Amino acid sequence: MIHDVAVVGAGPNGLMLACELALAGIRPVVLERLPERSPAQKANGLVGQVIRLLDHRGLYEPLAGPGTPRPVPRFVFGAFPLDLRQLDGNPLYALPVPQHRIEEVLEERARGLGIAVRRGCELTGLAQDATGVTIDCQGPDGDGRLRARYLVGADGGRSTVRKLAGIGFPGVTSPDPVSRIAHVLLPEEVRTTDTGEFLLPGCPTPFRPFTHTRTEHGVFVIAPFGPDATMVATSEWGGPTPAEESPLTLDELRASIRRVTGADLALTPARTPGPLTPRRQVGHNTRLAERYRQGRVLLVGDAAHVHAATGGPGLNLGLQDAANLGWKLAAELSGWAPPGLLDSYHDERHPIGERVFMHSQAQMALMAPGPGTTAVRALFGELLSHPDNLGRIAALMAGSDIRYDTGCPHPLAGRFAPDLALGTAAGPARLAELARTGRPLLLDLGGGKHADGAAGWRDRVDTVVADCAEPPAGALLLRPDGYVAWASEADDPDPDGLAEALRTWFGDARG
Ligand SMILES: Cc1cc2nc3c(=O)[nH]c(=O)nc-3n(C[C@H](O)[C@H](O)[C@H](O)COP(=O)(O)OP(=O)(O)OC[C@H]3O[C@@H](n4cnc5c(N)ncnc54)[C@H](O)[C@@H]3O)c2cc1C
Repeated sequence: MIHDVAVVGAGPNGLMLACELALAGIRPVVLERLPERSPAQKANGLVGQVIRLLDHRGLYEPLAGPGTPRPVPRFVFGAFPLDLRQLDGNPLYALPVPQHRIEEVLEERARGLGIAVRRGCELTGLAQDATGVTIDCQGPDGDGRLRARYLVGADGGRSTVRKLAGIGFPGVTSPDPVSRIAHVLLPEEVRTTDTGEFLLPGCPTPFRPFTHTRTEHGVFVIAPFGPDATMVATSEWGGPTPAEESPLTLDELRASIRRVTGADLALTPARTPGPLTPRRQVGHNTRLAERYRQGRVLLVGDAAHVHAATGGPGLNLGLQDAANLGWKLAAELSGWAPPGLLDSYHDERHPIGERVFMHSQAQMALMAPGPGTTAVRALFGELLSHPDNLGRIAALMAGSDIRYDTGCPHPLAGRFAPDLALGTAAGPARLAELARTGRPLLLDLGGGKHADGAAGWRDRVDTVVADCAEPPAGALLLRPDGYVAWASEADDPDPDGLAEALRTWFGDARG
């Protein structure tokens, strides 16, 4: 038997990709070396456009509870607090949710879509030829071999798939900072101000909760999770570097807090376990795969890019990789992909990986100690006081500052579609709700003038005629990953422009 797609890795990005493929009619096999889901504590939340993508898949509510995504009023960049309330059209969404919950929801969805995750099955070898990839695995039943038309490495930062496919992973490995984090009970001498800031004994500067604060000696974070647990964390550059394997003790954290803030805090363990156990991380990697595709092998998520966790851009990047690749790979396998569609995965997503590479390095540089950094921060702070610059940083963190090249001049083309409140023949709906099928969609906002233009693509493209109070275009052609492939400039039908866009993204007309 030959599988259409083997996805290696059942982390969030592998599971998301498997679901996207299944929505598009391709049932992949998922190989995961761990017998059970990893208890490792990683992401604490999602940041950026990915939250709107999850809304397009009906996955927002299972993670966030009832409601629709809303931009966040505040965020942080390189230990600069950002007040985003002053922005017209704040693009930055954030959702606090632990990674294990994201994986649970995605695995449940994968199961619902009929995808089996083969746990305890580790890829150990691969060889590709003109028609597919032969995969060697080790599993509970011994060694095995399987074959798939395409193989996707979603196997994390140390990706075996990437290495075996010979894809380079250039970038930077830094020994700094050393970060320490634990949940503790604070001593009574720690006070809070009327505005909720923390005053540490012997330290004149108040610390805002849930925010990175830079001092001349490092970065400090304090985050109260109720009376029984407060998270405290430090990052230090050039400080003592203990062996990575030795567990973090509260004495070591106390000494680090003293070096960073000047305050000596007697810490005791939290009464309730926090979302993170005491942990130390030494240094960080910022690396980006040279290519996201090598023949029949593709990479998504951390297998394609790693960077510091500052600002939480990892899953914004990875889950959108998965959504970008899913429908394109399915189109290739279903036989209707236009030339170059699968290669557009690398062309579109690699530059976004480069942006995250850049901003995570920049944030690290902005947080490092030293008078040079202090001077750069003074300048950066001045620049951030201008709403235009603040908006650019918010868009950078959201991942909304890149526009895919669609060839269509409409300002919405190449961007994630705005959510629109619509009136349809089936009743009121948001655009995000219409996108849940994961199929390409022609949204005709011109009373039906545009709909006929997609008649030849009915097998692949759905058409909905809808009213909208303030239509941003006469019609929108939406890709399954939520991005606008084409939009009409005016209310006048543009059948030639529409047909060209349909051919470019969804292949030739049939029937
Ligand atoms: C401390 C920390 C905090 C973070 N905070 C955030 C945050 O707040 N927000 C955010 O968006 N991101 C955050 N991240 C990043 C986020 O956790 C990663 O981007 C995410 O886990 C990547 O998912 P993935 O599916 O690509 O890879 P992984 O989660 O690494 O999953 C890869 C899977 O592949 C499996 N695998 C590996 N090799 C093989 C093989 N040979 N055969 C079979 N299976 C294999 C592994 O067992 C694993 O299950 C954080 C990361 C860390 C470490």
